[in-house]
Order: sequence, then structure tokens, then C-alpha cells
Amino acid sequence: MPSWEIHEKYAKLMGIPIEIAKEIDKLIDSSGIHDFYDIFLERSSKPRDPMTIHYINYLKSLGIRRLFGINKIRVRNYNFKSSLFITSPFYEKLKTYGEDGLKAFFLHMFLDLIERNERGKNVEILEIIDGDYHFARYFWEIESFINSNFYSILGDIWKDIKRRRDRKTIKEFDRIAERISNRLKHQLERYFSDTTFKN
Ligand SMILES: [Zn+2]
Repeated sequence: MPSWEIHEKYAKLMGIPIEIAKEIDKLIDSSGIHDFYDIFLERSSKPRDPMTIHYINYLKSLGIRRLFGINKIRVRNYNFKSSLFITSPFYEKLKTYGEDGLKAFFLHMFLDLIERNERGKNVEILEIIDGDYHFARYFWEIESFINSNFYSILGDIWKDIKRRRDRKTIKEFDRIAERISNRLKHQLERYFSDTTFKN
């Protein structure tokens, strides 16, 4: 998930009051709430366009199952089940923040999904829709906001991903270094105790 600084930066840029954005970010990222990704977001992946599908089917008919690149281009589709969402206690809570709260919520969700997509192994085109249409106008507004800030958003998200990966790598190195020095210490201790014994 992108850091809160990223969420806050774009909420502010979208004109959402920062206090509301912060509250909503906390609400979403507090334990348990992120479950809505599993409950309200239906995820599916499909090959991109008829030509690609046709080509993949042709290759499959020849017995070729995997071809580098080609069958990796997909559309990842998220269908937000808004009819179900409006019956949830989370929505009841969200409603108390008004229009801006809803906007902050959907912006947070979009940014999370973009980040998730960027971390993925496949080349995927992201599509997020409100299949039941209750919040479609928020989706359109956020989509056009994201489109007009696309490179800045992607840049921030990538910086974030890289920073976290580096941090993980450093931790990993530290762990390995500690293991090696422990082993060395152990061997030295044994060596010295052996020599003391011999003497
Ligand atoms: Zn999040």
C-alpha cells in the first residue's frame, strides 16, 4: 500500500480537506478494514483486445502454451460491488464524513490498486469500475484526476516501492551479516577452548 504521504498529497491536490483525508486513510488502513478489497472488489483478468485473444488462441491451437510477453498483456478488472458496500457498517461510518469522505475513500482505493498493480509481475492494464453504479460519478472524477496527474502519481508510487524494497534488502543484509558474525564467534570460541584444552 502506498504511504500515507502519497495518499495525503493527492487528496490535497484533489481539494479534499486534509483532516478528512487523514481520518479516512486511518480508517481504511486500520486492521481489518482492508478486508473490503476481498469482499467488495471482484477481481478478474482478461486478455486485452480481440486481436490478442485471437492470436493467443491460435498459438494455443498449435500447442504453444506460453510465449514470452504476449500472454502477459492483460486487463486487470476490478468491479466494485457498490450495492453490497452500501449495506456495510463501514459505509455507515464513511457517510458521516460527507462527500469529501467518500471522495477520499475512493481515491485511497484507486491509489492502493494502482500500487498493487505496479508491484505485480505481469503487464496489466488496470480497469476499476462500479458495476452497480451507486458511486460511478466519484469513479469518473477520480479517474480523470488520476489521468491528468498520471506520471506524477506513478513516479511517487515507484519511489515508494523502491524505498521499501531497499529497506527490505538492507534488513536482509543485516540478518545475514549477523548470522555470519555469530558463526565466526562460535568457531573462534571453539578454537580457543580447544587450544586451551590442549595446553
Ligand atoms: Zn490502503
